[in-house]
Amino acid sequence: METPIRIASRFPDMGTTIFTVMSKLAADCGAVNLSQGFPDFQAEPELFDALHRHMKAGRNQYAPMAGMPELRAAIADKVAALYGTRFDADSEVTVTAGATQAIFTAVAAFVRPGDEVIVFEPVYDSYGPAIEAVGGTVVRARLQFPNYAPDWAQVRALVSERTRMIILNSPHNPTGAVLSAVDLGELAKIVAGTDIVLLSDEVYEHILFDGRPHLSLCGHPELAPRSLVVSSFGKTYHITGWKIGYVVGPAALCAEFRKIHQFNVFTVHGPSQLALADYMQDASRHLGLAAFYQEKRDAFRALLAATPLELLPCAGTYFQLARYTAISGLPDRAFADWLTREVGVAVIPVSAFHADGHDERVVRFCFAKRPETLEAAAGRLCKGFAKQC
Ligand code: PMP
Ligand code: GLN
Repeated sequence: METPIRIASRFPDMGTTIFTVMSKLAADCGAVNLSQGFPDFQAEPELFDALHRHMKAGRNQYAPMAGMPELRAAIADKVAALYGTRFDADSEVTVTAGATQAIFTAVAAFVRPGDEVIVFEPVYDSYGPAIEAVGGTVVRARLQFPNYAPDWAQVRALVSERTRMIILNSPHNPTGAVLSAVDLGELAKIVAGTDIVLLSDEVYEHILFDGRPHLSLCGHPELAPRSLVVSSFGKTYHITGWKIGYVVGPAALCAEFRKIHQFNVFTVHGPSQLALADYMQDASRHLGLAAFYQEKRDAFRALLAATPLELLPCAGTYFQLARYTAISGLPDRAFADWLTREVGVAVIPVSAFHADGHDERVVRFCFAKRPETLEAAAGRLCKGFAKQC
C-alpha cells in the first residue's frame, strides 16, 4: 500500500540486521546455517513439560511488572551462588523480553541526548542503534585482532565529561574473548569517582572454556555498585526463541530501569517464567554448559583443521572466528556471500560489527549445532576450498 506521508527517517542509513540477512540467504541457498547464533537442537523435555503444566494450571494472566517472584528469587539465588553478591529479588532483579530488550531499556533509562556511550568494536549489533535511538552518541574503542583484548589506555582517552555509560560484553560476541581480572581492575580505575553506569552484557556467562571462570561485573566490589548486568535464558537453555532474559543491579539503578521497562514491555510472558524458575532449580543445567560447548568447540576446530582457515582463539561463547586470507582476497561480506551461495555454509562477516566497515578478513561461525550439522558444514568447506585454491 502507498502512503501519502513523507517520512523523514530516523535512521535513513540503517539496513536489516546481519543475522536476519545471513539466515535468509542461508535458507534461500540451502546452505548449512552457521551464521545467526542459535542451537539447532532441542532443549530438554522437562522445560516444555513445566511450561505446559503452568499454562494448564491457569497461570496465564499478566505477570507482575518486574517478573514472576518465583523466577526473580531463582535468579537472585543463582547470582549469589556464582558471583557472591546477593541482590534483592523484589527491587534488584527484573525479568525482560530477552537481553535485547534489557539492553535497549537500560540505555533508554540512563542515556540522554548528547550523552556519550563507550562500546568496544567489533560490537554486538544492537548497542549502537539503542544508543542513537535515544539521542546518545556512540564512542567506539577497538578490540585488536587477533586477541581482541580491550586497550584500556584507549578507553581512558575516550572518557569525557559526557560519558554516561560503558557497555561491556564478556564472553564477547563475535570474538569469543573474555575479560580478565586485570581488565576489570583497569575498568574500575577508569570509572572510579565518575557517574558512569556500566551495562554488562553477560549472556554467555555460562559458556567459558578451558577452566576459565566467568568474572561477572556483579561480583566485583568496585564495579557492582554501578553496574546493570544482563543475561539471557535463550543462550543458557537452548531456547533463543523464548526471548526471556533479566537484569540485576543496585536498587537505585533498577528503579530507573523499571521506569522505562513498565512502558516498554510492562511484563514478560508469564508461564515461561514459571517454567524457567522450576528448571533453574537444578544448577547442573547451567553449570554443565561450558563442558557441553567446549566439546562442540573442540570438535568443530578439529574438523576445520583440515582447511586453510586460520582459527582464532575461542575462550568463550558459541562462536568461532576464522581468518580466510589463505583462501581468498575478497572483503569479508563478499566472502561470506560466496561461502553461502557457492560452498553452502553461511557465516557472519565480522566487519558487520564495525561502524566503519573495518575488515580484518575474518568471519564468524556458530558451533551451537548438532555434530552432523558441523560435519556437513566441514565437509562442504573442505570441498569448496579445494575447488577455490
Ligand atoms: N547480547 C549478545 C552479546 C548476544 O549475542 C545476544 C544474542 N545472541 C543478545 C545480546 C540478545 O539476546 P536475546 O536473544 O536474549 O535478546
Ligand atoms: N545474537 C545472535 C547472534 O549473535 C543473533 C540474534 C539476532 O538475530 N538478533 O548471532
